[in-house]
Amino acid sequence: MVGKMSRTTCEARSRNTWLRAGGMILLLVAAAGLCAGDIVGDIVALAPSQPHSYEQFMTAVQELAASPRITVESIGYTHKGRAVVLVAVQAPKNVGLNPAEGPPCLFIVARQHGTECSGTEAALALLRYFATTDDETSQRILEQLTIAVVPMANPDGVAASRRLNAANVDLNRDWISLSQPETRAVAEALSRWQPLAAIDMHELPAGSDKPAYAQSFVETIGHDDRIATWLSDDCRICSLRLADWMQAYSLPANFYYDYSNDSRKLCHRYFGLVRGIPAYLFEAKTGSGHPLEQRTTFHVLGALVVGNYLIHTYYDNQRRGREAVAETPAAAQQEPSELSEATKPTLKLEIVKPTEGAVVTGSVPVVVQVAGEGFSYVTFLIDGVLKAMTTCAPYTYLLNADDYSNGEHRIEVALCNATGRPLLSEHCTIIVSNNGG
Ligand SMILES: [Zn+2]
Repeated sequence: MVGKMSRTTCEARSRNTWLRAGGMILLLVAAAGLCAGDIVGDIVALAPSQPHSYEQFMTAVQELAASPRITVESIGYTHKGRAVVLVAVQAPKNVGLNPAEGPPCLFIVARQHGTECSGTEAALALLRYFATTDDETSQRILEQLTIAVVPMANPDGVAASRRLNAANVDLNRDWISLSQPETRAVAEALSRWQPLAAIDMHELPAGSDKPAYAQSFVETIGHDDRIATWLSDDCRICSLRLADWMQAYSLPANFYYDYSNDSRKLCHRYFGLVRGIPAYLFEAKTGSGHPLEQRTTFHVLGALVVGNYLIHTYYDNQRRGREAVAETPAAAQQEPSELSEATKPTLKLEIVKPTEGAVVTGSVPVVVQVAGEGFSYVTFLIDGVLKAMTTCAPYTYLLNADDYSNGEHRIEVALCNATGRPLLSEHCTIIVSNNGG
């Protein structure tokens, strides 16, 4: 296992080092500090053992507001008249700046579904940490990053212990119509804060029977003809960083790059496809074996990795220009890996389902058997487009044949190292037959 995220002293590192490094990346290396320690553990330690009620949450926000680094806004009101609040943490010198003049902003939305509490706890712990910690690392991070958070997007749902809001609307299906006060409030706040990356925090029901959703997952836009190449590249490269860190913390995680024509009704899709913001959906697995602390850790770690990636790309882009990033595919960042060459012969990969030439319809699990060690994750490509990756067994992906035209399609599965370099790949061809023919 790779070492925990550390605030160890480190030298200034080049962008290439950052992009190609695997599990040994130090968190927020641009803001390298002097104190050894586990920043993720320090943050999660600030979360309570029991989730906040709405009233307790509002008290916590009031306490945060005493800090000169904290800005609190009531961005809207629910059907029941409860405030939807945005809390931002910044270096005091950046408070009140026009977003275009300040550092890049990471925007976090949590708890659109009232019963999914760990996102709220992670968001509050992040805010507390950066509002109260005075070490050099934290201060330098805040000089380079604004974190704006809606920790509880559905206060009526929280108060009633239910998924939906008080108008029986699933807020995370409301982002095309923006029919609800809660979603409108967040959409308007986006315009003011102008974030350059966004995260939507959720929890995944314990009883989900979809093989593809067996673990915590991150969903993002890995490929979409409607968005700029740099944006999908940004999401995909950042996902590799997330995978490395999730593995370092022994948090099994899957990554999905699916999209569909009506997908903008989901918050992170709206952020990405409508607002042009690299965005990530975090789903922490619930149920036995997944206590609140673990789910909170998943969200905190993910937020730090995305924030870290944002800092690096933002300041490097300032130096090099956006085009340089857009024209630098992940492959160009890869380094020859002695480790990967050494371990390659022991790896075995087989696509168990579907078999070569199978005729498929509806949902089709793609099942892979892997033997050997020395790889970081498994990727699934359909017709050359990256659809998913996973850091953990079972190595499956749920392919929806309804999304594909009738006829032949190619499934390719690869074992990759921490830099995304394929060590071994297999492929098979399926014949989609959605009309029964
Ligand atoms: Zn949810």
